[in-house]
Amino acid sequence: MKVPFVRLDRAYEKHKEEYDKVTLEVMASGHYVLGPRLLQFESAFASFLGIDHCIGVGSGLDALKLALLALGIGAGDEVLVPANTFIASALAIRETGARPVLVEPDAFYNMDPEQVRERITPKTKALLVVHLYGQSARMEELLKIARTHGLFVVEDCAQSHGALVGAAFTGTLGDVGCFSFYPTKGIGAFGDGGAVVCRDEALARRIRMLRNYGSLNKYEYPTMGINSRLDELQAGLLSVRLAHFAEELTERRKRVQGYLKDITNPLVVLPKVRPGGDSVWHLFVVQVDHRVAFVRFLQERGIQTGIHYPEPLHLIPALSWMGYQEGDYPIAEGYSHRVVSLPLYSGMTQEELDYVVGCINAFGIER
Ligand SMILES: *Cc1c(COP(=O)(O)O)cnc(C)c1O
Repeated sequence: MKVPFVRLDRAYEKHKEEYDKVTLEVMASGHYVLGPRLLQFESAFASFLGIDHCIGVGSGLDALKLALLALGIGAGDEVLVPANTFIASALAIRETGARPVLVEPDAFYNMDPEQVRERITPKTKALLVVHLYGQSARMEELLKIARTHGLFVVEDCAQSHGALVGAAFTGTLGDVGCFSFYPTKGIGAFGDGGAVVCRDEALARRIRMLRNYGSLNKYEYPTMGINSRLDELQAGLLSVRLAHFAEELTERRKRVQGYLKDITNPLVVLPKVRPGGDSVWHLFVVQVDHRVAFVRFLQERGIQTGIHYPEPLHLIPALSWMGYQEGDYPIAEGYSHRVVSLPLYSGMTQEELDYVVGCINAFGIER
């Protein structure tokens, strides 16, 4: 049997008629950018999250960048960001002219509030909190630190669509929430897409302007912006996606319970959800000491795995200008050597899951 790490066609097949219908409707409508489908999706996503404003943008990276710019963050400022995240979180900060300052993760892979305290300087302007692998970060503590020090809180929810902090969704707790609709993400488009959400009307207005060349009304430019708009086709497809999201999430949680219950190999450390926390399981990440052998063992049996991420930010060559050394973030470095993401996708069958579990339980190390 072959089990890929992720496959996106199953989710499409499941509601093919709806996706096909909306695609043809948009094509025939003659309206492809900044039209009614975008407004419809923005309003549906905002009401799903229980927040006032949603602005559709071109990608998750752009969502982060526009949010930071709209908050007035730029050259001379520092933004705290986890050492173990996707490169986009740091690139967005850099693109504003500000400096990313890395923070070690806690036992659940998220920003450790204790470590945040140690990294705050007079230049710190914001916390960029990432809810990694779909698990909500310790927002109560992080918000308290931010309030004490007068910092903005930007949530990177590229992996946490639908994850809760108490009764509120991630993305609605800080000053601004940033989402990616990259195809593999919890709510995935059929191309690139992203969104920024917030409660503050003036902030929403600034983001709306910045995503469209700095303009709200045609040929009026109160400020300089960029071109980063969620197009009508993606917005229409995302509305279908959103309508089925609850059902997809239930199915995903069920698959994960299968992994958690049935993987019994003591060499494989299973993920935990923080007490009082929540996870939508964007990724199912285990830890193994003998990662090379483990990955090869599964590969030989037709099972594809992922590594999120092979290098913490400070060891990525492209980010060497941040000036960190190997050994500066030992916790993040340790994770980068041991993490493996198992196959998990919408439409994964029980048979596929059982096969993966069986192979994982058969993995051993010769002594
Ligand atoms: C995917 C991702 C992004 C970037 O999203 P794009 O839509 O690919 O630009 C940012 N942050 C995190 C944590 C991500 O996983």
